[in-house]
Amino acid sequence: MYAESYYMPGRIQYYRVKKRRNIWVLPVFLCTFVVLGAVFLLLNYYAAGESVFEIVSEPVGGGNLQEQPIEPQGPTEPLPIIAPEETPVPTQAPTATPEPVSTTGPDLCAVTEKSKTMYLTFDDGPSAEYTDTILDALAKYNIKATFFLVGENVEKRPDVAKRIAEEGHTIGIHCYSHAYDDIYDTVDSYIEDFEKAYQVIYENTGVEVKIFRFPGGSVNAYNKHICKDIITEMTERGFVYFDWNASLEDAVKKTTPEELVKNAKDTAMDRERVILLAHDTIYNTSLCIEDIILQFPDYKMEPLTEEVVPIRFRLK
Ligand SMILES: [Zn+2]
Repeated sequence: MYAESYYMPGRIQYYRVKKRRNIWVLPVFLCTFVVLGAVFLLLNYYAAGESVFEIVSEPVGGGNLQEQPIEPQGPTEPLPIIAPEETPVPTQAPTATPEPVSTTGPDLCAVTEKSKTMYLTFDDGPSAEYTDTILDALAKYNIKATFFLVGENVEKRPDVAKRIAEEGHTIGIHCYSHAYDDIYDTVDSYIEDFEKAYQVIYENTGVEVKIFRFPGGSVNAYNKHICKDIITEMTERGFVYFDWNASLEDAVKKTTPEELVKNAKDTAMDRERVILLAHDTIYNTSLCIEDIILQFPDYKMEPLTEEVVPIRFRLK
């Protein structure tokens, strides 16, 4: 009894502890089994899913690949189809060739069909120093301009005046003496000066001049009292005069060639018709004339004739 009573409690405790431990064994095992089972099922599921996608994707590619040997007939059919499609491709090529043609077309049009017109005009020459330089530049670009000559300067450089005429430029009359006070004293004094210039130019160049430009323009501070009368008289005599609507302003003040070019562009204002005033007696003008030509690529450069519609200042 004592022993039992002594050992039993210990054994009972031992068994109780062991039983308590055994209590957790089964749930843990079951849980592990459940978890493992779940993992196994999930793995199978994903494995099955991947295989499904592979199967779906493979038949598409594989189907085509398998059909390819059958479709050689198909490709042969498409071939004629592709052929007509390739004929449009050549038609695309022609359309591609027209494109460069069309691109060159506008360029050519830009070169050949210049919508705007510029008349380069040079007053006060011929100059012993600078007219030749300007003529060289004009010849380089095959441009014809207009030179309103001063009779006195023609007498000084008749060879340059002849060159102007021989190279196809228009010669106009500016005056003989370019002395404003004398020329614009009366209508008769103007006519007298004009006739003298006409004669000198004709004798030295053989040109029978039809057009002219007033020194200082048709209306200026020196001639405003008689300008209408002069115009009436000159028109009755069959002469046509031209003013300008753009200017290098090369006779106004001393400026650089770059400024002259800028003046020309600023005053031309991109107009459809431009009569540009310049002076072939100015050194900087001779320096910038080539740049002037290049700065107006949209303009066709033409010489003035009596048929050209004049640009004139307004008579008040
Ligand atoms: Zn002048």
